[in-house]
Amino acid sequence: MSATEIKERAVVTRFAPSPTGFLHLGGARTALFNLLFARHYGGTFRLRIEDTDRARSTQPAIDAILNGMRWLGLDWDGEEVYQFARADRHAEVAHRMIEAGHAYRCYLTAEELDAMRAAAQAAKQPLRIRSPWRDRTDWPADQSYVVRLRAPTQGATTIDDRVQGEVTVQNAELDDLVLLRSDGTPTYMLAVVVDDHDMGVTHVIRGDDHLNNAFRQLPIYRAMNAIEGGWPDPVYAHIPLIHGSDGAKLSKRHGAVGIETYRDEMGILPEALDNYLLRLGWGHGDEEIIAREDAIRWFDLDAVGKSPSRFDLKKLEHLNGHYIRASDDSRLADLVAEKLGFDHDDTRRAALAAAMPALKPRAANLNELAEGTAFLFATRPLAIDADAAPLLAGEAPALLARLHGVLDAVHNWDTETTEAAVRQVAEAAEVKLGQVAQPLRAALTGRRTSPGIFDVLVLLGRDESLARIADHKA
Ligand code: GLU
Repeated sequence: MSATEIKERAVVTRFAPSPTGFLHLGGARTALFNLLFARHYGGTFRLRIEDTDRARSTQPAIDAILNGMRWLGLDWDGEEVYQFARADRHAEVAHRMIEAGHAYRCYLTAEELDAMRAAAQAAKQPLRIRSPWRDRTDWPADQSYVVRLRAPTQGATTIDDRVQGEVTVQNAELDDLVLLRSDGTPTYMLAVVVDDHDMGVTHVIRGDDHLNNAFRQLPIYRAMNAIEGGWPDPVYAHIPLIHGSDGAKLSKRHGAVGIETYRDEMGILPEALDNYLLRLGWGHGDEEIIAREDAIRWFDLDAVGKSPSRFDLKKLEHLNGHYIRASDDSRLADLVAEKLGFDHDDTRRAALAAAMPALKPRAANLNELAEGTAFLFATRPLAIDADAAPLLAGEAPALLARLHGVLDAVHNWDTETTEAAVRQVAEAAEVKLGQVAQPLRAALTGRRTSPGIFDVLVLLGRDESLARIADHKA
């Protein structure tokens, strides 16, 4: 298939994680870019679990990937493909390549390989294996062999990468890589190519740590295309990795934790993380807040930057605050109820939903939101924070007594009537509003900071507010 023909093929992308660890930010961003690219072109986005490494692949890692992707709304099309289950197909392709002369049986022994390795080391050359078995057919009957690619030795391979630009490698620098191990199992290089072909993948969008692999994978496509046709080169886009804010490769120290940590421990909303990941390495003018529909409309590979992007937790929290404010109160109440373990308590959930308009303007994450609701469910006598206790000393009990008297006469309990009462007390006592409001806040919430104090009065209701004030009045 020619380059124009591939353009006419419907776009198919894929995310192909190895379930050997958890789903990290980098993986989630790769998945997001693949999804957006496919949706932008009306194509298909597939998921393949690369579980060929049996020793390191685990079910909890697979679950974390699937759950993390669902949580982020990275919905893949069709059933996910499990690579290990396709080992026979991989072997079949390797054997077709042997038959057609594009691969060969290699009987190099471990000792011979060691000697080649030592010689390469002594000559300070990288080990590039061109096995003598490349041209031999006197195959020993009872000896196991690996299958190697008969890689091109002349010329050069150029990839017109959609992010990295044109990259060329001399074919002499590549080796005859192993396709099937001596136990007949496929290598990663072979499995990726066969699976991408069989899944109809047109665009391989992945981390730039795989750029070198592309030069080893392309000869497999080209060999199969020569054999049976229909194996066009995919379009490659190798996206830069995510670095920490200090420019070093993202590590645990920078918060390189599984996606579920952002959800469960850091109180991040999925749309905030998506928006953040999208902006990390891709841009559309000055747009910062980008809804999924706009992302699909605008996303293309041309605007993916070539240099590594830096992870910035502050920016993520800033976006998260935006999405919290934009979020529906009942959804936030559900999320907070779950955090607080109230998810089966409808009365408390309703109280949380009522409190959200007052609470959400100041929360950068769901933990702060949950934290801010503590006063609603506190029981009398309230525990008073150490830094709030001084607010209840001095003149405070006398002022609270006067306030109690005025509020006790308010029956139409809303933010306006309670505000008028507090102002009236401050004026009559010739003190600033804060001198009444601060002790009131401490008495009602036990804290120095809280949502707007009149919102707190209304959320607690008349009886509970009066009782909490009475606990601290003179
Ligand atoms: N399974 C590989 C990884 O997790 C990705 C392979 C690919 O995208 O081609 O890094």
